[in-house]
Amino acid sequence: MQDLYDVTIIGGGPAGLYSAFYSGLRGLKTKLIESQEQLGGKVLLYPEKLIWDIGGHPPILGEQFVKQLIAQAKTFKPTMLTSTKVDFIERQGDLFVIHTAQGEKHYSKTVLLAVGGGIINPQKLTLEGAEKYEMSNLHYTVQSYKRFVNKDIIISGGGNAALDWAVELSPIAKNVTIVYRKDTLSAHEATIQEALDVGVQIECNTTITKLSANPDKTAIQFITCENSRTNQSYTRQIDEVIVSHGYNREASLTFDEAIAIPKKDDYYFEGKATGETAQPGIFAAGDILSFEGKIHLLLGTFQDAANAVNSIKTYLEPTAHRHAVVSSHNEVFKEKNRSIIENSLSK
Ligand SMILES: Cc1cc2nc3c(=O)[nH]c(=O)nc-3n(C[C@H](O)[C@H](O)[C@H](O)COP(=O)(O)OP(=O)(O)OC[C@H]3O[C@@H](n4cnc5c(N)ncnc54)[C@H](O)[C@@H]3O)c2cc1C
Repeated sequence: MQDLYDVTIIGGGPAGLYSAFYSGLRGLKTKLIESQEQLGGKVLLYPEKLIWDIGGHPPILGEQFVKQLIAQAKTFKPTMLTSTKVDFIERQGDLFVIHTAQGEKHYSKTVLLAVGGGIINPQKLTLEGAEKYEMSNLHYTVQSYKRFVNKDIIISGGGNAALDWAVELSPIAKNVTIVYRKDTLSAHEATIQEALDVGVQIECNTTITKLSANPDKTAIQFITCENSRTNQSYTRQIDEVIVSHGYNREASLTFDEAIAIPKKDDYYFEGKATGETAQPGIFAAGDILSFEGKIHLLLGTFQDAANAVNSIKTYLEPTAHRHAVVSSHNEVFKEKNRSIIENSLSK
C-alpha cells in the first residue's frame, strides 16, 4: 500500500497550491495531485495578464504569480504529482482511496477538492485542418505579447476575454479586428467602449469560414469571413488569429455511491464557508465550492483554502486549535526567518 496521507488535495490551481502551503503550516502530511502537466490552474490561461486585485500585492503577471504560488506551496515539502488525473474516490472504512486515470491508488485520511472549474479546454475552431496551425499562428490563449507586435490580428469571439485581448493588443498591434457570430457582443459594455476607443474594429454577425495557408503551408495567411445578415463574404490577409469561444469543461471525477455531496448547477459542490461538505472527511476550496457569500476570485480561493485546512486539522485532531497562529508567532517560521534575515544582512 502507498503511504497514508493526512490530506490529499485534488487540483493544483491557486486553491490547491495555497492549501498545500497551509496544510504544511498546520503540520499535516500532504499530497497534491494535478491532472495537467503544469501547476497553476486557470491562471495558466492568462500568463500575460496583470492581476490587480490581490490584497497587498502590486499588479503582477499571471505567469509570475503562478511561480510564486508554487514556490510557496513547496515550503513544507508536500508530495506533489502532476500529469495525474483523479478519476474516482471511494471510502474504505476511515480512509479514502483515490484512483487515478493512470491506474494508481492513493490513500488518505481526508480529501480536499480544489478542482476549480474542472479540467477546462478551449473550444476549438471547427474548420477543416485548423489544428495544424496551432503550432504557428492560430491561438487559443495569448502566451506572449511580443509575438503580436506590429501584427494584423483577427480575434474571433464576443465575450470579455476576446475584448480584453483586443484592448491589450491594440496598442502594440498594426490592426485588431473582432469578428463575432451574433449581432451583439456579450462582453461588458465598458470593455466594448474601451475597445472602440483604442481603435479595435468590430464586425458582428460575422464568422470565419475558411483558413488558407501560406505557400509553405505552415501558417494561416488568409481568412475568409461571412456575414450572416448580408450573406456576403470577404477574404483578407492576416498575421495572427486568436479564437476565444469559451471553454469545454471535462467532467472531473466521480465518487462511490456512499459519497454523496449536494451540487449546485450540476457541477459545483454545495458546502460551507468552513470548507466542509455534506460528506465527513471530504472538504473543498476555491471555485468548485459554493456557499453564500462566496467570492469566485483568487482572494476567495485563499480564504477557502485556509478554512478548509483548519477544518481538516480539527477533523483529524478534535482538540487542535481552530486556527493556525499568525506567521510571526509560528514556530515553523523561526528558522526560515533567521536565514532570510541573515541573507539580507550579508548583502
Ligand atoms: C480569463 C480569466 C481571468 C481571470 N482574472 C482574474 C483576476 O484578475 N483576479 C482574480 O482574482 N481572479 C481572476 N480569475 C479567476 C481565478 O483565476 C479563479 O478564481 C482561480 O483560478 C480559481 O482557482 P481554483 O484553484 O479554485 O481553480 P482552478 O484555477 O480552476 O484550478 C483547478 C485545478 O484542478 C485541476 N483538476 C481538475 N480536475 C482534476 C482532477 N480530476 N484530477 C486532478 N486535477 C484536477 C485542474 O487541472 C486545475 O489545475 C480569472 C479567471 C479567468 C478564467
